[in-house]
Amino acid sequence: MSTENEYGGQCFCGAVAVRVVGQPAAMGYCHCSSCRQWSAGPVNAFTLWPPSAVTVTRGADQLVSYNKTENSTRKWCKQCGGHVLTEHPGFKLVDVYAAILPQLPFEPQLHVNYAETVLRMRDGLPKLKDFPAELGGSGVSVPE
Ligand SMILES: [Zn+2]
Ligand SMILES: [Zn+2]
Repeated sequence: MSTENEYGGQCFCGAVAVRVVGQPAAMGYCHCSSCRQWSAGPVNAFTLWPPSAVTVTRGADQLVSYNKTENSTRKWCKQCGGHVLTEHPGFKLVDVYAAILPQLPFEPQLHVNYAETVLRMRDGLPKLKDFPAELGGSGVSVPE
């Protein structure tokens, strides 16, 4: 029996369901233009998990995907168009969008790709120009 935290979520229509276990490796907001154009929203609230923590528990055959770059496989439900997750193989992490996991306490730690922002969020959290150095970014902070 596992004592790990477990959180469930589903797409807009419910055809696809996911489950995550444990704690996310990181949570925050991405301001990149790719997230913006794909989501049609100003920012993406992300929760990043090791791939082994994420299971598609229903409707895996309803998930379709698109790669703009090798490091982002964006997946959505083909029934409703609802976005579910993005795999980042280069980071060895999966972003299950915060909005997909309503029971997970969302505790953002940082903002990434803030150089591309169209929505300044003055919440006192670190604002990185691109990505943290551990993930191959510059690690440089920029003003809120
Ligand atoms: Zn759906
Ligand atoms: Zn992004």
